[in-house]
Order: sequence, then structure tokens, then C-alpha cells
Amino acid sequence: MNSINVMPAISNRPVRVAIVGSGPSGFYAADTLLKSDQDVVVDMYDRLPTPFGLVRGGVAPDHPKIKNVIKVYEGIAKNEAFGFFGNVNVGDDLSVEELRRFYDAVLFSCGAETDRRLEIPGVDLAGSHTATEFVGWYNGHPDYRQRSFDLTQEVAVVIGQGNVAVDVTRILAKTVDELKDTDVAQHSLDALAESKVKEVHMIGRRGPVQAAFTSKEIREMGELVDADLVFNNLADFDLNPASQAELDDAGNTDAQRNWKVLEELRAAGEPAGKSRRVVVHFFASPKELQGTSRIESLVLEKNQLAGDPGNQWAEGTGQTSEMDCGLFFRSVGYRGVAIPGVPFDEKRGVFPNERGRITDGGSVMAGMYAAGWIKRGPSGVIGTNKPDSVESAQMLLEDAPSLEACAEPDSAAVTDLLKSRDVRVVSYADWQRIDAAEVERGAAVGKPREKFTTVEEMLALL
Ligand code: FAD
Ligand code: NAP
Repeated sequence: MNSINVMPAISNRPVRVAIVGSGPSGFYAADTLLKSDQDVVVDMYDRLPTPFGLVRGGVAPDHPKIKNVIKVYEGIAKNEAFGFFGNVNVGDDLSVEELRRFYDAVLFSCGAETDRRLEIPGVDLAGSHTATEFVGWYNGHPDYRQRSFDLTQEVAVVIGQGNVAVDVTRILAKTVDELKDTDVAQHSLDALAESKVKEVHMIGRRGPVQAAFTSKEIREMGELVDADLVFNNLADFDLNPASQAELDDAGNTDAQRNWKVLEELRAAGEPAGKSRRVVVHFFASPKELQGTSRIESLVLEKNQLAGDPGNQWAEGTGQTSEMDCGLFFRSVGYRGVAIPGVPFDEKRGVFPNERGRITDGGSVMAGMYAAGWIKRGPSGVIGTNKPDSVESAQMLLEDAPSLEACAEPDSAAVTDLLKSRDVRVVSYADWQRIDAAEVERGAAVGKPREKFTTVEEMLALL
């Protein structure tokens, strides 16, 4: 036997797994690993001192019930074999190579933290923002604490018709009374209280049958206290044969549910004359933002659909129109961010993988896994990540007997290394102190929590 090629196997100790990212997919993967019949320890890393990813920093503050899923994650974190390493940016504070020195396997569940670019002239003018920034701002994400949005403008446009676009539109259209009892960040609530926005236009490039929002979310848009919902052009509901075929397809239940709600909203009749308006447009794409020092107007091109049922795309007709626009939000999808030392698919913005095993040039990289949005791309609700993460964790468990043992199986050594770099690791107990302080601050003002919105504030508390 040639001993040079024999890797040291893991023996007489648990399999050590680092999970990078503490959002839903990280927690579901941890749960599968910790519940398995193999002896596994999990250290979960997050670049923020706070866990739960987009459940904390993405889910809209006026949807508090959805955040109850955190209780499930808190249960997982109680496992003795679970450790939290918050405030550690993997790829920056600690390289992937270093991580592999301390862990037999690394599972990346670091989400899709940036936005997909919308390439139109004028997109970088003042007043043009990504949904990612606005969502992070109202949710108190430290990355976006310093952003500001000129809410003195009367006309806002949101491009895209996914549920994120619906969130952004709804937050812009709601009154402060509708938001004040939520965990919306106080700096945003103060700014929104002064908002002069009167019209929010949510613009989709395809038609009502293809819209990416879901029925519950679009229904809610018709129930706003001081904003009427109107459609830009009722003729958009005259379907072409391919869209009619899509709607008639028995399997297309999402579109059918949307259609039913849209019909109800259309039947609601004349707007009630509320002080704000949400205007839903279909079949239009932004062509150009115009303005000198900041955006003043938006050029739209009318679209028509081309292609077969189930695969129709928007095609410009050449017919353009111009509208006033003082605030512009691009909500055209998120995108994964590369981490040095991990292969990255530039086109899709994901870590290339086969059922969760990370691949490099088509070959599986031993001991490297991906789950959630960084594995499959930025789509799906919280629950969608569960089966996705279970699959990746199962691949890891299947591989465990043949994984090469790491050189230094010692979590305390990681903390020491980080300490030598002045990185203050935030443990789960530390996070619980931050959590308790936020809840206490919230109780004082009638909110479920008042978030700390800078890392400095959180570390100062500790
Ligand atoms: P994320 O939740 O993004 O978690 C990734 C984690 O990785 C983050 O905590 C991040 O800080 C960490 N991280 C990133 N890079 C590093 C690094 N280098 N080192 C260490 N840590 C790192 N779904 C619903 O069911 N209901 C909703 O109401 C809902 N609302 C949403 C609202 C918005 C604005 C968005 C964008 C999504 C929403 N979703 C909702 C979808 C849901 O949030 C996602 O399906 C889910 O969060 C994806 O989970 P994830 O774990 O893959 O990524
Ligand atoms: P999404 O659902 O993929 O929607 C993206 C939108 O952007 C679509 O309307 C898409 O139109 C449009 N778009 C993409 N490129 C465009 C371009 N170049 N020009 C114009 N429009 C363009 O993404 P998302 O809204 O970011 O949501 C991500 C996931 O999180 C989704 O699965 C969503 O359901 C989930 N989420 C859920 C909730 C909730 O449950 N309440 C809330 C927020 C998010 P096309 O369809 O034509 O491509």
C-alpha cells in the first residue's frame, strides 16, 4: 500500500463542520447534521454579530408572523454540539484555507447579498437605488445604516414584480401608523414619517399571468389604509393566446391564484381617493433615467410577449413614454457574492455544485458544500431552503467517512487566532444579550424590538 496517498481519516472524535452563514439554509443544514446518527459538531459563522440572515434583515417588518420561524432556529442553537461565531467575515477575517485547518468540512450558506445589475443609462444618478439597500435600511442592517433616500420626492418607481418589489412598494405606501408597532428601524420610521411620496409605480416587464409576486402579497396591496391600488392599463388584462394557455394550465396554480386576486382588485371599482396611490404597470421596461444632478424622469418602453406558453419573454416594441420619477428602486433580483478560495459561477452568481457538493471545473471539491441561495440562486421562500439544505447536509454525511481529517480540530484555537487579529467573536450567549437588549429597547416604545443598527453599538453592549 502506498501510504503517501492515504489521507488521515477522522477517528475518535466528532466530524467538525463549519457552516458559513446563519440564515435559514445554514440552520436547516445544521439541524440535519446535528440530528444525524453520526457524531457531528457544528460551528456556525456569520459576518454579522446577529444570526438569522434575511429573516432579520430582509423579511418586511410588517410581516412579524413570518419571523416566528426564528424560534425553530433558536431550538437548533440549543444543541450542545452547536457553536456560533458571529462577527466573523469568512474570506476576510478568516480565509477559507484557514477554516479548513480547523474543520473537516465547510458548508457555505452565505446567501445572495448583492443585487442583480440593471444596465440602463442614468442608473447611477442620485435618486436611483437598489431594493437591497432600501430593504437593508428599513430593517436596520448595519451595511445600510448610513444610506439615505430622498423621500421629499412625490413619485417613486419600483422596477420588478417579485415579492421584494411588493415589499418595497408597500413600505413606501404605508402610513407611519401602519409601521410604528413593528420592528422597522427607528431611523427609517423617522424618515418615512416625513415622506412626501404620493405615487408608487410598480413596473413589470411581462404581464399579469407572468408576475413573480404571490397572491397573498398582492392582495395585501389592496388593503392599505391610505393608498389606493390602481392599474395603469386595464387592457393589459386582455391575454394573448400563449398567456391564456399558461393561465389554463392546471399546474399553474400560482398564476391562477394571482389572477383571481387581480380580478377582485380590478372589480373593486373607482379608487377611494386616499392620499397615496400604488400604480401597477405591466408590459413595460425602463430604458433610461434622465436628469442632471439627480433623476427627474424615466423613459419606459412598451413590451409585448414572445415565445411559447410557459416560456414567454418581454420584447420591446420601440414605443416609448416618459414619466416623472424622483425616486427609483431596482428590484430585479439578488445575486451571490464570491468568497476567495471558493469557485464562483459568475454568470449565475452561485457556488457551482452538484446536489450541494461544490465543484471546481466540474470536479467535486472534497469537504466543501453549499446550501440555500448561494447554492441554487436567489429564489424561494424560507421553507424552500429546508429540503435544499437537507440535501446538502446529507451529501456531507454520506462523504464523512472518507473526509480528510483537519489538521487542528479545535474551535478554541479559531477564537484565539481571531483574537490575535482583533476580531471579537460574538458567541450565541453574546447574541442572546444583544437580543434581550433589543427587545427591552423595543418594549419602551411599543415595538417588538428596537434593533441595534451598527456593529459598534452591539459590541459596546457586550
Ligand atoms: P440568507 O438568509 O441571506 O443568509 C445568509 C447569511 O450569510 C447572512 O446572515 C449573512 O450575513 C451571512 N454571510 C454572507 N457572507 C458571509 C461571509 N463571507 N462570512 C460569514 N457570513 C456571511 N421568504 C419568506 O418565506 N417570507 C418572506 O416574507 C420573505 N421576505 C423576504 C424579503 C426579502 C427582502 C428577501 C430578499 C427575501 C425574502 N424571503 C422571504 C426569502 C428568504 O429570506 C430566503 O429564502 C432565505 O433567507 C435564504 O436563506 P439563505 O440562508 O440562503 O440566505
Ligand atoms: P423574483 O421573485 O425573482 O422577482 C424578480 C423580478 O424582477 C421579476 O418580476 C422579474 O421579471 C424582474 N426582472 C428581472 N430582471 C429584470 C430586468 N432586466 N428588467 C425588468 N425586470 C426584471 O425576486 P425577488 O423579488 O428578489 O424575490 C426573491 C425571492 O424571495 C422570491 O422567491 C420571493 O418569493 C422571495 N420573497 C418572498 C417574500 C414573501 O413571501 N412575502 C417576500 C420577499 C421575497 P421576470 O419575471 O420577467 O423575469
